[in-house]
Amino acid sequence: MNCDVVIVGAGLVGASLAAGLIGSGLRVLMLDAQADESPPHSDWDSRIYAISPGSSDYLRAIGAWQGIAPQRLARVEAMEVHGDVEGAEIRFSAYQAGRAELCFIVESREIQRALRERVQAEDAITTAYATRPVALAVGEESAGIELSDGRSIEARLVVGADGAGSWVRDAAGIDTDVRPYGQHGVVANFETERAHAAIARQWFMRDGVLALLPLPGNRVSMVWSTWDALAERLVALDAADLAREVETASHHELGALRLITPARAFPLRWQRASAWVRPRLALIGDAAHCVHPLAGQGVNLGFHDARALAQVLAARGPQDDCGDYRLLRRYARARVEPVRLMQATTDGLQRLFNNQRFGLQWLRNTGLRLSNGVVPLKSFLVEQALG
Ligand SMILES: Cc1cc2nc3c(=O)[nH]c(=O)nc-3n(C[C@H](O)[C@H](O)[C@H](O)COP(=O)(O)OP(=O)(O)OC[C@H]3O[C@@H](n4cnc5c(N)ncnc54)[C@H](O)[C@@H]3O)c2cc1C
Repeated sequence: MNCDVVIVGAGLVGASLAAGLIGSGLRVLMLDAQADESPPHSDWDSRIYAISPGSSDYLRAIGAWQGIAPQRLARVEAMEVHGDVEGAEIRFSAYQAGRAELCFIVESREIQRALRERVQAEDAITTAYATRPVALAVGEESAGIELSDGRSIEARLVVGADGAGSWVRDAAGIDTDVRPYGQHGVVANFETERAHAAIARQWFMRDGVLALLPLPGNRVSMVWSTWDALAERLVALDAADLAREVETASHHELGALRLITPARAFPLRWQRASAWVRPRLALIGDAAHCVHPLAGQGVNLGFHDARALAQVLAARGPQDDCGDYRLLRRYARARVEPVRLMQATTDGLQRLFNNQRFGLQWLRNTGLRLSNGVVPLKSFLVEQALG
């Protein structure tokens, strides 16, 4: 089988690239190791994302945002970030920033469903699920991939969108700098006694960062990034005990909580591939870089990668080869600084707050109090949150 671009990994980032290439004149194959299953709308997905306005604009431009049911979208109109001493907090609102919302909270599978439906409607895009590459050979004119189902593919460009443990990256021999945080992100959804009032709440605590993010109705989604041992204990708790633990950690702000999805834990790491492009090869999303989820920016970075790569490929000349290294380097150059800045910011915050030294504790809490009063600094933080 021949195509121009093969995207390995149909997660949110890979599928957003496929949708972003619609109309580019390129024939695309998007494949994923997992089967394409559509769970019922009645359940809630415990994997949720804070989608920045920049990312929602991209998803709208590629025709996917319109496919997300409005009743599954929650707008965040304000944020409250609490430190680990009384009164250390920062609050910002969309109103102050002159925006309708700071971000949207959406379930992972609702975005996935919308992206895959968008892609399936296009003749220029072929999809293959429940199959994975087993061999990669990059040549002068094309790259060859053997699939686990026995098929062979010749493509001009191979894109690795296959997540943090990227097979494509490893098969291309690209080194990766990996620094595990020794933490897991524990996620679960709750029904709340009190209304969340479209406020995203975060508590920076001695042993991690707890976020309760608004979902439609009286529901919130929890992301609790904490040390491995506590994460393991949280996941093992029964529903009532976990709810009590989260009520206490969140100072009972939302009243009584009732667990509505089982808790799951994801390992957290800082990670960066030593190269994001090679001749006939590009990495996007978590395959290229991972950040701590405390700022909720991982998939947003990935969407910006996909947009940048799609733009570079769409702007190529009619005779240009989409796997040309010079073309691909334009994509890497466009992304290196924004990713570096976000990795440094989230890593710095993680270190500042997961440290018990007195000086640092004073600094972070004083920093939150001061930032809350200084308008330009607050505006800067809001701009970062808006992506
Ligand atoms: C607890 C937690 C909370 C988070 N919250 C946020 C948030 O609020 N906002 C945000 O922006 N980010 C958040 N993130 C980060 C976000 O989850 C990732 O950045 C995002 O999922 C990366 O998407 P991706 O498509 O690059 O990779 P993935 O989501 O990992 O998708 C990779 C895809 O590739 C497929 N695949 C893997 N290997 C192969 C193979 N060999 N062959 C074929 N297919 C393969 C997989 O099946 C999968 O479909 C969070 C992360 C964690 C851990």
